[in-house]
Amino acid sequence: MTHLTPSLTPDNRCPMFVDSHCHLDRLDPATHGGDLAAVLDAARARNVRQFLAIAVTLEDLPALVELARTHDDVVISAGIHPLHRLAEEPSVAAIKDAAERVAAVAIGECGLDYHHLDNHHLDKAAETPPSREVQRERFRRQLIAARELGLPVVIHTREAREDTLALIREHSDPAVGGVLHCFTGDLDMAREAVRHGLYISLSGIVTFRNAQSLRELARRLPLDRLLIETDSPYLAPVPHRGKPNEPAWVVEVAECIAAERGISLEEVAAQTTANFYRLFRAAAPDAPAEVREALRSAGLV
Ligand SMILES: [Zn+2]
Repeated sequence: MTHLTPSLTPDNRCPMFVDSHCHLDRLDPATHGGDLAAVLDAARARNVRQFLAIAVTLEDLPALVELARTHDDVVISAGIHPLHRLAEEPSVAAIKDAAERVAAVAIGECGLDYHHLDNHHLDKAAETPPSREVQRERFRRQLIAARELGLPVVIHTREAREDTLALIREHSDPAVGGVLHCFTGDLDMAREAVRHGLYISLSGIVTFRNAQSLRELARRLPLDRLLIETDSPYLAPVPHRGKPNEPAWVVEVAECIAAERGISLEEVAAQTTANFYRLFRAAAPDAPAEVREALRSAGLV
């Protein structure tokens, strides 16, 4: 696949960054005095110019729609997180209908999380997460909805490698693809996912002191399959660990990848931005004008 760096790097300007996964409706009220506009402005000041706000449940959608309506640089997804507790599981038709109604650019976040299933008993206060069976059926329905809508999937996967890959193989269209978000698996799993048309998104975890294997993955995966994200308000990168995360700090994730690969920050920014719009095609018409121009000349929109 071609690298698009030069065309996305206007002279003397740092190219833009994209936060490909943030929970703008769940940001800590203490951040920037609870003022979301100020949070986004802090990110824009570092040239983070596109935000994909991710749904955790379909009930989030009204708030997310309002965010997208009031901010030109916010696009949204529609989906149900594997750990979210629901009284009733939405059908494929209901998921498709919800996604279409809100003009979602992706389905998710969806996926499988067996970690909390195995460990929730350690935390007596925690509610029982949905069972493996419920998670698999919920994920399957969202993969089918995504395939039928031609939308990419945003996938959360934790300690569920085989089941995640099996469902992707069975139900996901490699021509549409998706992303393994906040990836913490190994290189083999990442490569297997890439073979099925998926991108790998790295979060602030890649900056953590003990994340050597993730940094190795940041070096070894092809740059044209990587995305960057904050997953804010969770998982603030070094040197902000312990604070509520915010989209401005996606730059720290890009800096870490640049340092690992021995390339410029500009190249990481340009390539991950191109990757974002290549995957989330429905967001491309609203990209900043010079980015749209570059994408057009590269034949991506
Ligand atoms: Zn998330």
